[in-house]
Amino acid sequence: MKALLRVLVLTLCAAVCAQEFDPQPMNLDPLTLDAVVPVAEPEPPMPLESDAEEEDYAEEVEPEAQEALDVPRDQTRVAVLGYHNFSKTAKVTQMLMRTGEFREQMEYLRRAGITVISMQEFLEWRLGTRTLPARCALITLDDGWKSVYTDAYPILKEYGYPFTLFLYTKYLTGLGDSLKPEQVKEMQANGATIGSHSVSHLYPSSWKKTEKQGPEAYAALVDAELGESQKKLSEMFGPVNTYCYPGGYVTPGMLERMPGYGYVAAFTVLPGKVTVTEDPLQIHRYMIFGNDSSIFRRAVDFRVAQLGTGVTTGASPGTLPADTPAPPFAVYPKPQETVAPDLPEITAYLSGVAGVDISTVQMKVSGFGRVPAKVDEATRTVQWVLPCRIYMPNLSVHVTWKSTDGKGHKAEWSFSVDPNAPIQTENTIP
Ligand SMILES: [Zn+2]
Repeated sequence: MKALLRVLVLTLCAAVCAQEFDPQPMNLDPLTLDAVVPVAEPEPPMPLESDAEEEDYAEEVEPEAQEALDVPRDQTRVAVLGYHNFSKTAKVTQMLMRTGEFREQMEYLRRAGITVISMQEFLEWRLGTRTLPARCALITLDDGWKSVYTDAYPILKEYGYPFTLFLYTKYLTGLGDSLKPEQVKEMQANGATIGSHSVSHLYPSSWKKTEKQGPEAYAALVDAELGESQKKLSEMFGPVNTYCYPGGYVTPGMLERMPGYGYVAAFTVLPGKVTVTEDPLQIHRYMIFGNDSSIFRRAVDFRVAQLGTGVTTGASPGTLPADTPAPPFAVYPKPQETVAPDLPEITAYLSGVAGVDISTVQMKVSGFGRVPAKVDEATRTVQWVLPCRIYMPNLSVHVTWKSTDGKGHKAEWSFSVDPNAPIQTENTIP
């Protein structure tokens, strides 16, 4: 029974992970009914601690007393926000947000003192030629919907926020619900940076079909979609050096060829705060859904430890100081162990520790905050099944508990993730 459950859990986990790399199409293209369709973005991995507080993000927040000051580069975190389509009246979906809600979110950024930066500033910070405040946001809008011009742009202009348009060239016609090149140019003169979102916004299935035809065919398609869009958009709007993967679908075959097209940064749809050390070709981004404001709340919450910061003050994200004592019980993964990115679970075996009040045990994981670990009272095992692959190079785990005499205890350890380790499709954990 236990084994069956384990298989079930892992299957579910695999399904979640697969969803992340193979998003399904959500809505019909307004222009043509072929494969040129924006696709749904995956669910973010896990609720963070702060999500427990269901306060309305639009509630009063104290405005910063003065303009935020710059900090050393490694202390800045950037929330990249991704939007799609807007309407004042239509039913909201993941991809379509009420214009009024967008205004509230922009107002929140102002009141909370989060600095909205341009793509140029973002890239300079990444390259090391400028510093930024500790909490920044980068606003991006995907696909090229007409409502970006009619609904979002007036608000962005009012607030004086720079923004980035990730456009796919086939949809840049002014027909149906799409933007006209002239509208893009007008926005460009008023704070917009233009980035590429491919030529035809292909489904993952199209990519996979071409992959089967061999590496040459695949490379040709990568050139056509990622390379040609850069050329076309550069001809129309001046130099384009950023890319955003349609549907967040990114493959090793794409990454390999990226440097040849002149892109210096490429964005995914995997949520997390961006730090200066993050992989420039797989930059995290929060896709802000029109029908779920919790993602925006999470994106603008800089209080909890998130990707790239770790829960503690270790030398690098997710690591602990070298003199951290090992936990007084067995754990998996072991301290300092290196694991594959599809680690199925983190486990602490507390059976060897005397006097643990098992009902008080909590687990925190860097980048995730407090996690919903399952406590098995019979075996005194605390286990968290990861909802997705791990994107950070190091993770630290913090287990706290009270002993039956009421005293608090804590144990911590960290381990590393090798992004190139082979992915295990079966559970091979002993
Ligand atoms: Zn898109």
